[in-house]
Amino acid sequence: MKKQVMNIAFDDFTMDEAVKTALSYIDDRKKCRVVTPNAEFAIEAGKNARFLNILQTSEIVLPDGVSVIYAAKIVGNPINNKLPGIAFAQALCEALSKRGGKLFLLGAKPGVAEKAGEKLMAEYPGLIIAGTHDGYFKDVAPIIDEINAADPDALFVCLGAPKQEYFMEDHRDELNVPLMAGLGGSLDVLAGNIARAPEFYQKAGLEWFYRLCKEPKRIKRMIKLPAYLWDAMVWKVKKH
Ligand code: UDP
Repeated sequence: MKKQVMNIAFDDFTMDEAVKTALSYIDDRKKCRVVTPNAEFAIEAGKNARFLNILQTSEIVLPDGVSVIYAAKIVGNPINNKLPGIAFAQALCEALSKRGGKLFLLGAKPGVAEKAGEKLMAEYPGLIIAGTHDGYFKDVAPIIDEINAADPDALFVCLGAPKQEYFMEDHRDELNVPLMAGLGGSLDVLAGNIARAPEFYQKAGLEWFYRLCKEPKRIKRMIKLPAYLWDAMVWKVKKH
């Protein structure tokens, strides 16, 4: 059962459960969208009904950041596991590699998805990168054809939010892919162009701080974190 944190309901999965659930959709050839909301998503969803609706109707909703864990605690519906999109991407690749699964990578600047694909195949032998395409395209129809021709089990859509969620919603019917996951800047990390925070920061819930130090211009985006926690406190006070 999903856990409601204000207007978004999250799955409180362990990584194993998240991957198993994703694989079950692939096995049943049933369509599944994976979204990875964090504070920034929640603030955007508060003023963007279309985006909110996608987050509310996606089959798998993973708490991407520590902000969600804090907000869940504040509203009195605690979530045990933070599951960042990038970690889910890696765990799914590992699981797919064990069954010769096929993955298509869409997004990021030209060359990045290819590089990420090469690294993933080296790290997870058995994984098949069925195709890649950068995220700066004008005409979407040839890309849909390309993805369908590659016949992947899973598609990583890495266009940033809410663009990637709109893509998944707009093309869900035409795309013959059971599992689609919106994974933001994951391809940049998987390609090795951007480093993930060291484990200490991840465990301390300070990945956002590490990223801020590395890319200070993200401050405008990160200011949404306290705003989200503030919303959670106001929500809690109003409910009691
Ligand atoms: N991106 C893209 N097409 C676009 C806009 C963005 O492929 O039209 C890519 C961008 O190159 C980056 C990712 O989408 O790889 C968004 O990264 P961001 O840092 O916003 O994601 P986060 O991990 O913070 O959600």
